Amino acid sequence: MGANDFRHKAARTVDWIADYFERIEAYPVRAPAKPGEIAAQVPEMPPAQPEPFEEVLRDFERVIVPGMTHWQHPRFFAYFQANSSEPSVLAEMLTAALAAQCMSWETSPAATELETRVLEWLRGMIGLPEEFAGSIQDTASTATLCTLIAARERATAGQANRSGLAGSPPLTAYCSAEAHSSIERAVRIAGIGSENLRKIPVDRRGGMDPTILADRIADDAARGACPAWVTASLGATSYGAMDPVRRVAEVARISGVWVHVDAAWAGSALVLPEHRHLADGVDLVDSFVFNPHKWLFTNFDCTALFVRDAEQYVGAFAISPEYLKTPHGEEVINYRDWGIQLGRRFRALKLWFVIRMFGVEGIRRRIREHIEWSERLANTIRGTDGFEIVTERSLSLFCFRFVPDPALSGDELNALNERLLARINDAGRIYLSHTRVGGRYALRFVIGQTNTTWQHVDEAWIEIQRCASEEWAEHPGGS
Ligand SMILES: *Cc1c(COP(=O)(O)O)cnc(C)c1O
Repeated sequence: MGANDFRHKAARTVDWIADYFERIEAYPVRAPAKPGEIAAQVPEMPPAQPEPFEEVLRDFERVIVPGMTHWQHPRFFAYFQANSSEPSVLAEMLTAALAAQCMSWETSPAATELETRVLEWLRGMIGLPEEFAGSIQDTASTATLCTLIAARERATAGQANRSGLAGSPPLTAYCSAEAHSSIERAVRIAGIGSENLRKIPVDRRGGMDPTILADRIADDAARGACPAWVTASLGATSYGAMDPVRRVAEVARISGVWVHVDAAWAGSALVLPEHRHLADGVDLVDSFVFNPHKWLFTNFDCTALFVRDAEQYVGAFAISPEYLKTPHGEEVINYRDWGIQLGRRFRALKLWFVIRMFGVEGIRRRIREHIEWSERLANTIRGTDGFEIVTERSLSLFCFRFVPDPALSGDELNALNERLLARINDAGRIYLSHTRVGGRYALRFVIGQTNTTWQHVDEAWIEIQRCASEEWAEHPGGS
């Protein structure tokens, strides 16, 4: 390509990105694509000869962009956001240019040392005790699996890694009935098995009942099983339920059970001192995960995993074949031993850019606003005839539904709200997702995109009401 040619093409790409950010609100938030529509526009065979950049970029605009759901659209209120920011994008360009493998200190000393330092920053920002050591993982799913593997090795004194699980008593794991599906997947992958995962019932607000947890652990131990790992969820995905971390940890620690906290989304809110009480008891846990790639303005992927006993944790993963041995082996951190991947991207760079260019106060201000606006909209909906709050606000998430006529049956209301969600998302001005709570179909509303303002939230509410009255006018009654 040559340096000048690259400079020119890169400048065009940056122009495209800047234009995209400027006009992002003109796109439908959710891709209007039908299954197979995009694939049909991509040739079945790769080109044998090089194609010009102009043509590839044109096809990117023509074929790919219309088939994308725009996660950085400020009227994206679905799932949990995977937000990003300009500083993060700039850092990612540099990461792509360096294209370094950050597996060992020697293969990327700066990446290793920056990762350590930036995770110390994060640890302080969310109020975790200093004995926790951090590493960056690709996703919360992977991080959670890693903690389960470390717990498995602790519970079996390394036997599972040495000779497999066949000879040991069955290991058992625990989480709340509201826990994320990645917990059960981890239990399957780690060889523990879904049947050995106890989903502990929750109280009215969705938090795990620690008394039932204690009973289940005692029952399992009494019948010869080995209770090994519990996940406390802070901000479970459905409606943001919070487990009582301190009580879960107190119960679990008596039996030597590894306590993991899944705060994938809610962890970012701990940068606000006024919300730290949600994590009360975190000083007692073994590991804690949250995703800066959800609500900390750092583009996917970037998961922060903190473990209390780094030596024990790394012991579950460390393997040192001759071809990976480097000098300084003992004095440096080799993050290749901190999880599943050998090769690792330089993800600390984008966190460094984000934290420096926003400043901790800049990050706090945005997250605080998201929570305030969520509170404001939830109150408006509560006070509006024909709507009801289904689950109370948890940080910036609440669930609601349309109830135009109190005489409608539960099934009719569910069908109506399902149709309403489809109408809203098909219209493309905003994007919401749903859940079911106690059999009730509910619309979830989450605020967390970087450039969302109160005006976008207000527009969303107008759009919801507009779609609701249209839906009701076209299908009055339960039909
Ligand atoms: C999003 C989420 C996950 C999964 O996160 P990934 O990084 O996509 O694996 C796990 N737990 C909770 C509570 C989540 O909200």
